[in-house]
Amino acid sequence: MTDPTPAAAPASASSPAPETYEFQAEINQLMSLIINTVYSNKEIFLRELISNSSDALNKVRYQSLSDHSILEPEPKMEIRIVPDKVNKTLTIQDTGIGMTKPDLVNNLGTIANSGTKQYMEALAAGADVSMIGQFGVGFYSSYLVADNVSVHTKNNEDEQYIWESSAGGSFTIAKDSGPKISRGTWIVLHLKEDQQEYLEERRLKDLVKKHSEFIQYPINLLVEKEVEKEVEGEDEDAEKKDDGEKVEEVKPDADAETEKKEGEDDTKVEDITEDDDKEAESKKKTIKVKENEWQLLNKNKPIWTRKPEDVTKEEYASFYKSITNDWEEHLHVKHFTLEGQLEFKAIIFVPKRAPFDLFEPRKKLNNIKLYVKRVFIMDNCEDIIPEYLNFIKGVVDSEDLPLNLSREMLQQNKILKVIRKNLVKKCMELFTELAENKEDYKTFYEQFSKNIKLGIHEDAANRDKLAALLRYNSTKYPEDLISLKEYVERMKEGQKNIYYITGESKKAVQNSPFLEKLKQKGFEVLFMVEPIDEYCVQQLKEFDGKKLVCASKEGMELEESEEEKKKREEEKKACETLCTVIKEHLGDKVEKVVASERLSDSPCILVTGEYGWSANMERIMKAQALRDSSLSTYMSSRKTMEINPTNAIITELRKRVDADKTEKTVKDLVNLLFDTALLTSGFSLDEPNIFAARIHRMIKLGLSIDDDTDEVEGAKEGEDEELPPLEDGAAASNMEEVD
Ligand code: ADP
Repeated sequence: MTDPTPAAAPASASSPAPETYEFQAEINQLMSLIINTVYSNKEIFLRELISNSSDALNKVRYQSLSDHSILEPEPKMEIRIVPDKVNKTLTIQDTGIGMTKPDLVNNLGTIANSGTKQYMEALAAGADVSMIGQFGVGFYSSYLVADNVSVHTKNNEDEQYIWESSAGGSFTIAKDSGPKISRGTWIVLHLKEDQQEYLEERRLKDLVKKHSEFIQYPINLLVEKEVEKEVEGEDEDAEKKDDGEKVEEVKPDADAETEKKEGEDDTKVEDITEDDDKEAESKKKTIKVKENEWQLLNKNKPIWTRKPEDVTKEEYASFYKSITNDWEEHLHVKHFTLEGQLEFKAIIFVPKRAPFDLFEPRKKLNNIKLYVKRVFIMDNCEDIIPEYLNFIKGVVDSEDLPLNLSREMLQQNKILKVIRKNLVKKCMELFTELAENKEDYKTFYEQFSKNIKLGIHEDAANRDKLAALLRYNSTKYPEDLISLKEYVERMKEGQKNIYYITGESKKAVQNSPFLEKLKQKGFEVLFMVEPIDEYCVQQLKEFDGKKLVCASKEGMELEESEEEKKKREEEKKACETLCTVIKEHLGDKVEKVVASERLSDSPCILVTGEYGWSANMERIMKAQALRDSSLSTYMSSRKTMEINPTNAIITELRKRVDADKTEKTVKDLVNLLFDTALLTSGFSLDEPNIFAARIHRMIKLGLSIDDDTDEVEGAKEGEDEELPPLEDGAAASNMEEVD
C-alpha cells in the first residue's frame, strides 16, 4: 500500500458532490432488520468482512495468473485491521481487487441476490443472524456494529471511489479524495456507542483467532506498543515536540515484511511519553515511547500441510467454518495426502446441512478451493469434483499443477483428472465411514440423499459403492431406513429379486394394490417416494447380483411353486374371453389386458412397460413445465390392464361374458373399473368429470332417483363416452343397453 496510514477514516473524503442512490427494497428491509436487531453475537461482522477481503484477494490472485500487470500498483496481498479509538472507527483494509463505480452501485445496494430474501425468510423462521454469510449478504453485517459505513475502494480499471451509508434507505457514491489506495478496499465502520469493544486489541485478536485463523492471506492488526528507547540526550527536545499520551498516527514502513515477529519494531517513533530529565546531562537516556506496529495474527502454516494426527477436531471445525461461512461445525472430515506419480494434499468436509441453494441452476458448481504449492488458485474449478458431490467442501493443494494455471488449461488437464478421481474415491470412503454411525448417517442422509441418488444416475464407476449408501422405508420397516444390503440379508427363501414401488408418498404406496401378492408371500418391498428415485433406479437395475424389480411395471414374475403355477395357468385360460372383451371396450387406452399375478384383493390394476415410465414418473414429468411433450406420448402410453381372476367382480363379469360376448352392461362397468384402476395405480384421470358422472349415476341408482332427463355433468356431446341412462332402481350389475 502506498499509504497505509492508520487514520483509516479520512475526515472529509468526499469533496466532489456525492451522488445519492436508493437501496433496492429488499436490501433496505434487510438493513433495517440488521441495524435494529437485539442479537447479541454481533462479532460475526468481522469474520464476514475479512472473508469478503479474502475473496477480493483471491480474485487478484486469479487474474494475476494470466495478467501479471494487475499486481503492479500493489504487489502485496494482505488484510489489515485498524482500530482508531479517537475517531471510534474500525477499518478493514485489503489489497484485493477493489470495486469500480458500477461494482459499488450493483454490489452494495441496488441489486439484490436471491439470498437477500431467503435470508430474511430464514430469520423470520428462527434462523440465527450469524448465518448471513451463507446467503451472500455478509457485507451488511457491518450494520450490526456500525451506524455508518464508508467503503473506500480502488480497482485498477477505475478511479478511487467512496461509498457511504447510514442505512435509512439510501447511500452515496463519490470520487474519493481521501488517502490514496493503491488497489483494494478499505471498509470504515463508525462503531455504534455500545460497540466500542471492537476497538480493543485483545477482542480483535481473539476474534480473528476464533473466526478467521485459517484465512490464507496475512491479517495484520495495528497495535500500540510501549517500548523503552535510548535517545541522545541533546535530541530530546526535538523528539518531544508532540507531548501528551495520545499515540499519533504513525506510518508503518510500507515495505515491511508481513511475516514479522510479534514485538519487532518496524514503525517510526513519533510520540514520546514522559520520562524525567534526570539524565539530561548524560549523552544517552532511556525513554518510554508508544509505537504503532503491525502484528500478524494468523501465523499458522496451512492446516492441510500438517499431519492429520496433529490437528485437533476444534481446528478442523474452525478451518471448516472459515472456508465455508458455515456457523455450525462440519459433520465429517477426511484429511489425506496422495503420493506417488503425483502429489497433493486435501481436506474434505461434509456439512451438517445442505445449503439453501444446493440445486439452484445458477449456483457455483463446487466448493473445493484449489491451491498449487500453498498458493490459492481458484475456488470454482468445475472439473475438480463431479456435480453430484457439489456439497463437499474443502481444499486441494497440488504439487504438480503449474502455478500459472488458467481455467482453459484445466479442462483437459491430466493431473486434474487424477485429483478428481481420488477426491471421489475419498468421498466414497468418507460416506462409508459416516454410515457406520447411525445418528450421523441419518443427518447426512436427510440432507444429501438426493446427491447420492444423482450420483447413482451419473457416476457409473461408483454406482455400486453409492448403492450401498441408499436407505429406504419398506413394507416391513415403514418407519426405519434400511439399506439394500439389509434387504438382501433377510430376503425370503426362494425370493430372487429386490422389489420396490415408486410413488408420491409413503402413504400413497403403502397400501397400493400392486403390493397385494408380494405382501401375501412375505416379500419385503422398498418404498421409493422421492422424484429422484425414479431416475436413480433406472440406472441401478441390480444390487449384489439381485435384480431390482418395480412392483408396478410389466415383467414382474413372482417366484412360485409348480402347484401355484398350474393354478394360475388355469385361471389365465378362464379369463381369456373376458380379457379380449375388455380390450375391445377400452380400445387404445390400454396396450393389452391380461390375468394378473400380483393381485390378491383388488379387481384390476394398470401396469406400465418395464422400460417405460411408471405412473409416478408420468406424474413427475407432467409437473415439469418446460418439458417437451412429444417424449411423453412415447414413454407413457403403454399401459397394461391386469385383472384379478379371483376377485368377485371379475368372476361375475367373466361369467356374463362367457355366456354372451355381446353382453351390453359390461362396457360401462369396464370403463368404471379402468378409471378406478387409474387412480389406485397412481395415474391421474384425464377426464375426471366423466368419471364423476359415472359415480354420481351409481349413487342415484343406489338412492333410487329417476334421472332420465338429467344431463350428465362434464360429458360433452360427440364423445365416445356417452353415458346411457340407467334404469330406475336397477342394480349396477343390471345395467342394460349400453350404446
Ligand atoms: P458476498 O460476498 O457473499 O457476495 P456480500 O454482501 O458480502 O456478499 O458482498 C457483496 C459483494 O460486494 C461481493 O460479492 C463483492 O463483489 C463486493 N465486495 C464486498 N466486499 C468487498 C471487498 N472487500 N473487496 C471487493 N469487493 C467486495
